[in-house]
Amino acid sequence: MDHVTGFRCLLCGAEYGLDEVDYVCPLHGDDGILDVVYDYDVIGARLSREALAVSPERSMWRYKALLPVAPDAVVPPLRVGWTPLYPAPRLAEKVGLETVWVKDDGVNPTASFKDRASALAVVKAQAAGAEVITTASTGNAAAALAGLSASVGLPAVIFVPKSAPPAKIAQHLIYGARVLLVDGSYGDAFELTLKVAREFHWYNRNTAYNPFMTEGKKTAAYEICEQLDWQVPDVVFVPVGDGCIIGGMHKGFKDLLTLGWIDRMPRLMGVQAEGSSPLVQAFDRGLAAEDMVPVAVHTVADSICASLPRDRVKALAAVRQTGGAFLAVSDAEILGAIPIIAQATGVFCEPAAAASYAGLVRAVDKGLVSVGERTVLLLTGSGLKDVGSAMRTVAAPPVVAPTLDAVRAALRTFV
Ligand SMILES: *Cc1c(COP(=O)(O)O)cnc(C)c1O
Ligand SMILES: [Zn+2]
Repeated sequence: MDHVTGFRCLLCGAEYGLDEVDYVCPLHGDDGILDVVYDYDVIGARLSREALAVSPERSMWRYKALLPVAPDAVVPPLRVGWTPLYPAPRLAEKVGLETVWVKDDGVNPTASFKDRASALAVVKAQAAGAEVITTASTGNAAAALAGLSASVGLPAVIFVPKSAPPAKIAQHLIYGARVLLVDGSYGDAFELTLKVAREFHWYNRNTAYNPFMTEGKKTAAYEICEQLDWQVPDVVFVPVGDGCIIGGMHKGFKDLLTLGWIDRMPRLMGVQAEGSSPLVQAFDRGLAAEDMVPVAVHTVADSICASLPRDRVKALAAVRQTGGAFLAVSDAEILGAIPIIAQATGVFCEPAAAASYAGLVRAVDKGLVSVGERTVLLLTGSGLKDVGSAMRTVAAPPVVAPTLDAVRAALRTFV
């Protein structure tokens, strides 16, 4: 792995070799989140835009040379990433913009963006010789880990709050993970998993704490640029809970800029639910990540419900360094966005994913995006993950007798 030089602590800048630390900077405990550092000269000599153009690999592993894995590492068989970027002209028209695309990460094997991180976690766990892999999750990270682990036969133990949506718990169970429903919040599950993994020597996939999760997630930024023929979009909207996805997007675009494959950065817009918006508050008040404290949170968008975002350092840097913004949207706006996106694009999102469109509406209202700016919405998870929330946004369909007359009468009720 001569293309990876090691880790750097986001808080103190201390550098470590890959074998020197496990997850976090020893000087800062569990908050000492690390960044993976690369040698871009080595990477640039191995991979080019031209080589990618003829790559037959239709998954995130087409960017293996940019990931912290050995060139000959065996990767899980499930096809993760290289998800479609659809032009969304009718969605653009709704908000008065010229060009909007949606990136549909709901088509990943376990139906969310989290597969990108979990695929990498499984490779790292196997390389470390781990017998068990574990994670805390609001639901999707664990579903992704359960599915990716099942694909290679690695035992997984997962910790989710007992309030997680049933479809996600069904995924965990069906994939054969050992599931423990924590009588507490996601934050409680997270702390518990840290203790349990240390005690039993399990490989820990916890978001942010495991520095490789950002690396898996950054592949979506590569894909967006490649799918747009390396013409960087102006603005990218990302739903934000822990902040790992937006931090990963930032890393991905920075990697490409360093390699000289793109010529500028897009603005990254982080969207949070009003009931879980600590990063919006920190952004508005100019707070440093280190000064944030846990707050009470509640939202219908379970995947972005986080009281003290674990990747707050990376998330704030992503938005501040790209000249973007953090925006809060209400649960009503989030739910309302689900059928709007579905009807304008054909993509059915879970609430957290729909927040990206709700954020776009807010941003246009506030004058943060202008008409000609090329805009991408990251749709991070499938609507089938939470059918109950989606059904709150539509009327119950009429029941008809099996006759033409009954159909004629019923059709008059659709205005
Ligand atoms: C996890 C998740 C997010 C937020 O990602 P963070 O890294 O926690 O900010 C957004 N949408 C969906 C569907 C998710 O599962
Ligand atoms: Zn440190």
